[in-house]
Amino acid sequence: MRALYWFREDLRLLDNPALTAMAEQADEAVFVFVMPEGRQWSRGEERMGVHRRRFMMESLLDLDLDLRKNGNHLVLLEGNPVEAILQAAEKWNCDTVFSQRCHTAEEIRTAEAVAASLPHHTLEGATLVHPEDLPFAVADLPEIFSRFRNKVEKRGLDIRDELFVPALPSPPTKTSESALSLELPIRLTGLPDDTMLFDGGAVPGWKRLNHYFWGMQGLSEYKQTRNGMLGWDYSSKFSPWLAWGCISPRSIYHAIRRYEEDEGANDSTYWLIFELLWRDYFRFVASQHGKRIWHATGLKEAPRNPVSHHPLQWKAWCTGNTRSAFVNANMHELRLTGFMSNRGRQNVASYAVHDLGLDWRACAAWFEHWLIDFDPCSNTGNWLYVAGIGNDPRPQRKFDVEWQSERYDPQGAFQSHWNRLGEIFPLDPNQIP
Ligand SMILES: Cc1cc2nc3c(=O)[nH]c(=O)nc-3n(C[C@H](O)[C@H](O)[C@H](O)COP(=O)(O)OP(=O)(O)OC[C@H]3O[C@@H](n4cnc5c(N)ncnc54)[C@H](O)[C@@H]3O)c2cc1C
Repeated sequence: MRALYWFREDLRLLDNPALTAMAEQADEAVFVFVMPEGRQWSRGEERMGVHRRRFMMESLLDLDLDLRKNGNHLVLLEGNPVEAILQAAEKWNCDTVFSQRCHTAEEIRTAEAVAASLPHHTLEGATLVHPEDLPFAVADLPEIFSRFRNKVEKRGLDIRDELFVPALPSPPTKTSESALSLELPIRLTGLPDDTMLFDGGAVPGWKRLNHYFWGMQGLSEYKQTRNGMLGWDYSSKFSPWLAWGCISPRSIYHAIRRYEEDEGANDSTYWLIFELLWRDYFRFVASQHGKRIWHATGLKEAPRNPVSHHPLQWKAWCTGNTRSAFVNANMHELRLTGFMSNRGRQNVASYAVHDLGLDWRACAAWFEHWLIDFDPCSNTGNWLYVAGIGNDPRPQRKFDVEWQSERYDPQGAFQSHWNRLGEIFPLDPNQIP
């Protein structure tokens, strides 16, 4: 049998259930990835900005090298994903398609459209807890995270084993000698040398994990440091590699367990698993609610806050020119690097919806454009949560940003760092849709 393997949010060979299933069944295989089209939101900005595009391309180059080490290679396709996959399957006479299962409406629709023309096997591989191992059906997901976690943990956190890289089927035609080449978007020059810039791919992802765990023992103090804002060390920074599937949450889980054997378990080592459960939760919420997660009123019947979405407030938020220096610094960091801390995200999101009356969907789309770790489930789930229209029993989750800035940036080091860079590299408000 000749299979087409369609990489989607799973740019890795290790611990990839769909890839392993394909390798067990196929004699020959073609590995493809469909380059995202320059899709835009109705208001105009590109859904994928320069930082994420670069990270994606680096991850593809890394994946191609890994495939080549294993006797195959990666083929890039362009255009509408359904047409591209069906045409590629026809071109290489593939009998069947395999891919990792996605959890958001748009991606599921694409997978189903392929399945309407060709056998298409989709397998779970994006979550820590396999959906079949949950003590309830996804349709009956508890409405509150703590109930979800309690139920999952009560049953015992029995995470499936990490899968090895399988022996890969060979390509139908001989692999060309030269590796994939892509023109990477150029990085902004002039940022300080210690600026956090992420390299895409499984190799840099594992390098980060080994450094954060065994190199600096950051995991042993994660619970105390995770609310930090400046530099590499306060949290794991695994999110971009998780979002692109360069590393699976299960691999991280088993690495945590190995680390605990070496260095000892404590609250912090557990807390990283706790955060991975948050990530799972938002995936299951997306599976449960489908398109509803994009609704203006989220999972509720009415918005919690009046939405004015005044254009001047919107531009001030995007460009980092609000009355809050703390919010501004975070918005500059996002735009200049593609990353923002969790503390920062909570504050700028709360400020946007509760203080400025912005439409959460426009703000979430701004995040989608800039974040290298953009993940539709985590992004939407968190925006709904902060806006008070998601999975939160509390009617309001408004942050006092001034109090937060005094608590989490008491010397103002974070704010002066990013506000200075924001002045050096300003964003023209006229460029904002
Ligand atoms: C408004 C808003 C939007 C967000 N958008 C995204 C997004 O698009 N993609 C994304 O990966 N995360 C998103 N987050 C969650 C969180 O801010 C990031 O996952 C985290 O800051 C990434 O840094 P880290 O890897 O060092 O996290 P760590 O603190 O080291 O946590 C480890 C991992 O746990 C997961 N995690 C931690 N917190 C959360 C959370 N609140 N929700 C879901 N997963 C979590 C992430 O995969 C993260 O990599 C958002 C949060 C908010 C408030």
